Amino acid sequence: MSTPTLASGAGPQQAQSLAAILTTTEALTDRIQAIRNAVDGRIVFSTSLGIEDQVILHAIADTGVDVEVLTLDTGRHFPETLETIRDSELRYGLKIHVVAPEKDSVDTLVARDGVFGFRNAVENRIACCDVRKVRPLNRALHGASGWITGMRREQSQGRGATEFASFDDTRQLIKANPLADWSLDRVEAFVKDNNVPINALHARGYPSIGCQPCTRAIEPGEDIRAGRWWWENDDGKECGLHNRPATVTTKEGAAS
Ligand code: SF4
Repeated sequence: MSTPTLASGAGPQQAQSLAAILTTTEALTDRIQAIRNAVDGRIVFSTSLGIEDQVILHAIADTGVDVEVLTLDTGRHFPETLETIRDSELRYGLKIHVVAPEKDSVDTLVARDGVFGFRNAVENRIACCDVRKVRPLNRALHGASGWITGMRREQSQGRGATEFASFDDTRQLIKANPLADWSLDRVEAFVKDNNVPINALHARGYPSIGCQPCTRAIEPGEDIRAGRWWWENDDGKECGLHNRPATVTTKEGAAS
């Protein structure tokens, strides 16, 4: 990816200042407004359509700030996830821009690894996430000055150090995580109190929802992200959108 030039001149210092503001700002709508005030130029909210991102979408609609909303259609989503796009557009009267992967890259990947090749080796899985998620997101973020995500510290060990705002060196933009300090209980209470539309799978044991072949329901007491790529060991299970996937192994011990 080529490095975009920021019209705003945003950098690590600006990210640090925004993080300080968000630390002392309580209401989510105020946090969204603070992000808009602090970052000049285009701000993108990339929604996975999961429960956290639905909370953020509600707050963006509530404040009416100028933030572009997009989601990545990997081509392997649950139907319930696609229905969440429709439900959200109807509820909030806004358009969610659907970003698809490049057809040629998907064709090449499937020809090489097969339709379910991502289960055969961790490197195949990371390659699939790269083609279907990471590259389309990088294209969509090109030229943006700000990026809003629904990451929470509690979601996993790997996300425990999530900051309210940081400078993404690779993408050359400010990444803001306005729910960084929220608990799942608080997220669920917000959804209930505000009648926020959410993916029907959340009520069926799916707290974290990714692509259909790579997500299962979890058992009581399991980690929130235990249902994601469940055949891999727990360390570093990321698709590369937020954190670079660490070297991980399958349950059978095949390393990548
Ligand atoms: S979650 Fe699974 S199907 Fe979706 S992009 Fe990653 S490996 Fe491919």
